[in-house]
Amino acid sequence: MTRRHPKGLPILFFTEMWERFSFYGMRAILVLYLTKETMGDNPGMGWSNADALVLYGWYTMLVYVMSIPGGIIADKLLGQKKTVFLGGILIAVGQLTLAIDNVVAFYSGLAFIISGVGCLKPNISTMVGGLYKQGDSRRDSGFTIFYIGINIGAASAPLIVGYVGEVYGWHYGFGLAGIGMLLGQAVYIWGQKFLKEVGNFVSVQHIEGTKKSIPLTGKEKDRVIVLLISFLIVIVFWAAYEQAGGLMNIYTKEKIDRVILGWEIPASLFQSVPALFVIIFGTTVAAYWAKRNKKNKESSSLFKMAIGTIIMGTGFLLMSGAALEAEDGGKAMLAWLIFSYLLQVIGELSISPVALSFITKLAPLKYASIMMGVYFAATGLGNKVAGLVGELATNAGELEVFTGIFIFCLAFGFLLLVFFRKLKALTHGAEEIKE
Ligand code: GLN
Repeated sequence: MTRRHPKGLPILFFTEMWERFSFYGMRAILVLYLTKETMGDNPGMGWSNADALVLYGWYTMLVYVMSIPGGIIADKLLGQKKTVFLGGILIAVGQLTLAIDNVVAFYSGLAFIISGVGCLKPNISTMVGGLYKQGDSRRDSGFTIFYIGINIGAASAPLIVGYVGEVYGWHYGFGLAGIGMLLGQAVYIWGQKFLKEVGNFVSVQHIEGTKKSIPLTGKEKDRVIVLLISFLIVIVFWAAYEQAGGLMNIYTKEKIDRVILGWEIPASLFQSVPALFVIIFGTTVAAYWAKRNKKNKESSSLFKMAIGTIIMGTGFLLMSGAALEAEDGGKAMLAWLIFSYLLQVIGELSISPVALSFITKLAPLKYASIMMGVYFAATGLGNKVAGLVGELATNAGELEVFTGIFIFCLAFGFLLLVFFRKLKALTHGAEEIKE
């Protein structure tokens, strides 16, 4: 029998769910708002597609890169708990500022959100890890549950904020995302009683018991190396996976047959499909890996990440199938897209929640938040590369880009599996902490 999870988990679950609701809601309408003409009903900013995508690329990168200062603030100054609170306030202020129809408000709103996500996102993830002591076997499943919360926010926001933004007005959409964040803050404040033990500021002197800073031990250094290697995987993974919001989104709109029973499903609705798959299959994939672990078969985090990259990459082979079918100017079957997302999500579930849990296990205590910050910065870099890869399709063609992603992920994943054994020897098995 597995023991119940700590009471702090639902608090962090709901706070992060609302934060992601606000983030993905805003993300869903940002480009639409930027490119909408300045005249007529529900006017936008009148930007070109290319300009809008550039801003979008910088924005999605910066929100995650700001996790590094967010982590530093937590480790050196405030502790994770207070930094999460600060982040929530900044995001809510940012979203509500965007609700004002004015250019200055627009840019300052974005700046607030970027700083806020940087403070909140990495530190709330580290706090989830802090709910479990070293060796607690519930840690991985705790992160799976947390990840499902993230995706409830991510699945519902594009539908709700997207609808309000497009139909009632962009600024109502931004405002609604802000209200979501305020609800998250309310849950967080209410739940403080369950978070007494976690996320508090611990000074370096306190950890080390001396005024002089002690260098990392050999074992800690090995672990940091393993973490840095995993961050490389993370960049490759998100660079491919994040095609969903860009290239795959446009492809769905233009070349996938979306008519079911005479109704053409809007392309934007498919943006919620990966998140829905995470909610449906999250526990199944986690249970599979846990079972393997019990049988003492290889299931260390780096192994899961390599396999995850291969499975996700195979999803792009299906997109190549779609591109082949649509090559002569026709449209491709919807099933290609759906099964491609399914494989991508099975890959994601073997990487993303695994990485979060893994970082909280391996990072030296005094760098716990900073390491999480660097992890998110790596995902941010992946997002930016994703934009560049997506752009390639305008010249090279979609078939070539989808197939290229597939081959690259496959080769990269297999290389990791080969290299993996060497790495184990090199780092004295530092990546294998069985709980
Ligand atoms: N989709 C996940 C989330 O929104 C992971 C994002 C990431 O790691 N960059 O939290």
